[in-house]
Amino acid sequence: MAELFYDDNADLSIIQGRKVAVLGYGSQGHAHALSLRDSGVDVRVGLPEGSKSRAKAEEQGLRVVTAAEAAAEADVIMVLVPDPIQADVYKEAIEPNLKDGDALFFGHGFNIRFGFIKPPAGVDVCMVAPKGPGHLVRRQFEEGRGVPCIAAVEQDATGKAFDLALSYAKGIGGTRAGVIKTTFTEETETDLFGEQAVLCGGASALVKAGFETLVEAGYQPEIAYFECLHELKLIVDLMYEGGLEKMRWSVSETAEWGDYVTGPRIINDNTKAEMKKVLGEIQDGTFAKNWMAEYKAGLPKYNEYKKADADHTLETTGKKLRKLMSWVDEEA
Ligand code: NAD
Ligand code: MG
Ligand code: MG
Ligand code: MG
Ligand code: MG
Repeated sequence: MAELFYDDNADLSIIQGRKVAVLGYGSQGHAHALSLRDSGVDVRVGLPEGSKSRAKAEEQGLRVVTAAEAAAEADVIMVLVPDPIQADVYKEAIEPNLKDGDALFFGHGFNIRFGFIKPPAGVDVCMVAPKGPGHLVRRQFEEGRGVPCIAAVEQDATGKAFDLALSYAKGIGGTRAGVIKTTFTEETETDLFGEQAVLCGGASALVKAGFETLVEAGYQPEIAYFECLHELKLIVDLMYEGGLEKMRWSVSETAEWGDYVTGPRIINDNTKAEMKKVLGEIQDGTFAKNWMAEYKAGLPKYNEYKKADADHTLETTGKKLRKLMSWVDEEA
């Protein structure tokens, strides 16, 4: 059984006694910086001189300096800039400003797991990763709740790194919901696999293939859009609330029978064999190497795929239909 930690297991005074730099002010950065500040922690935000996020952070009452200045001032440095540029930010702004006893924090293990960042031995290396988008992390904190987090220690130079990570998690509301202990390796590999095989990649490919099958058979795209994309939310909400059992309780017996006999024909042994290959390429670093090369080349294939899907009938149909559905925005 996974180890779980709540408010009573975490000592907020540890992080309150440190100087924290939050590098980046995007989805996660703004939530961490504001909630730590509200938890009585000494926070500064590190952003480039010309960054658009600067004005926003300052308006919200935070002190903004460059990433290098923030890293120099602080003894806890949370890296919340985009994963593909973290190694460059580390080389330029963080590494020259690290002292023994400092702590380097991440919201995702990618750069540590695949060795793009190699911190010196005297530094604690920790992860606190909320299992939700930054805007939800912040909203839940303000409402007195929290988003569950996972926490990990890659390098425990002080012998107290996990207590520090739990204290940080408490500062952003994570221990209100519960913090699960993991490792950088487990978090990174499962996060990449989940988003590729199931959540983003798997789900979009399933929706697209179903939509194309109906449209190629001559059915109206609008009807196909409802069946294959729109209704998916209702099904996933039921799964979220009560697993497959609640979803199957709610749909018709006919739908439930179709689930049992047809699901395994669609996601079959070949699909699972391919999933195992995908996981293998994540574990052996092939995915990370290819993705960093694509990023460094200026994202040529990424932009090509993005454009192709933007022009897909699924998307053009959806765009038109959603304008006619007054309830869609309110539901979100
Ligand atoms: P984001 O793209 O929303 O924000 C990145 C921020 O970094 C922006 O404010 C940008 O201005 C700033 N930035 C860019 N270059 C910079 C530089 N050189 N120096 C300082 N700041 C710079 O990123 P995000 O989605 O919040 O992701 C940050 C980290 O959190 C990543 O490791 C990601 O994997 C992880 N994470 C994100 C989510 C999520 O829901 N978005 C969830 C869990 C973990
Ligand atoms: Mg994820
Ligand atoms: Mg991810
Ligand atoms: Mg139906
Ligand atoms: Mg039923």
